[in-house]
Amino acid sequence: MPVFTSDVQILKTGSCVVEPYAVPSPMFIGLKRQLGIGGGSTVSLVHDAGELLVVDTGFDWESDLSPENREKHVSGLCRTLKQVGLEPGDITRVFITHFHQDHYGGVELFSQARWYCHRQALSDCPDHYKDRFLGLDDDEFITSHTRMMATPGHTRGHASLLWSREGSALRIALCGDAIVNLPWLMSNAVWRHNADFWDENAARASVQRLLDAADVIIPGHGEAFFTRPDADAAGYGNTP
Ligand SMILES: [Zn+2]
Repeated sequence: MPVFTSDVQILKTGSCVVEPYAVPSPMFIGLKRQLGIGGGSTVSLVHDAGELLVVDTGFDWESDLSPENREKHVSGLCRTLKQVGLEPGDITRVFITHFHQDHYGGVELFSQARWYCHRQALSDCPDHYKDRFLGLDDDEFITSHTRMMATPGHTRGHASLLWSREGSALRIALCGDAIVNLPWLMSNAVWRHNADFWDENAARASVQRLLDAADVIIPGHGEAFFTRPDADAAGYGNTP
């Protein structure tokens, strides 16, 4: 019997080793590979009108595609799901914000689910998954109360999800790498170290679009946070 009761739940908080003031250097790559720091993305779960939607799959040590690392990833996710009374087979939909290994690696764990991404990200999808992903358009709903928002910049086809329900005080954005984490946002920095980085102006516009649309941000590599100081007074209280 599932013990999952929230509409939106963070299964795993992604980490990030590169501070917003840092320039990329081999040291960071080394840290990421050797320590696994700054690895997998945030993994979230949306419970919406009978659908169980996983957002990003959060693959740690993204450059290590060995069977051992894959097994570690799978067992970690299964353990996390079990804590909320679920098994991988219970998940009905998966949304991938963009095709970087730390966000989509291990998606095959949810082989029975429907897989979605932004239609413009389909061209970035690895060949062996091409037939599996369904493309969504900007503002299209993936579940009853969750719609996709195109948030390009980090990659051309990057997209986020916005969960919002009538009667609920909070609108929650699941942002992938459009917003890395709160320190990056406060530093006015956007992640641009990826080879397929698309456009800085677009990335900044996407950040603004998300801040305007949401009360709560669930970023790709850090803790969730409110978009304005009074957002938590709207009905949910401010219990930590
Ligand atoms: Zn990324």
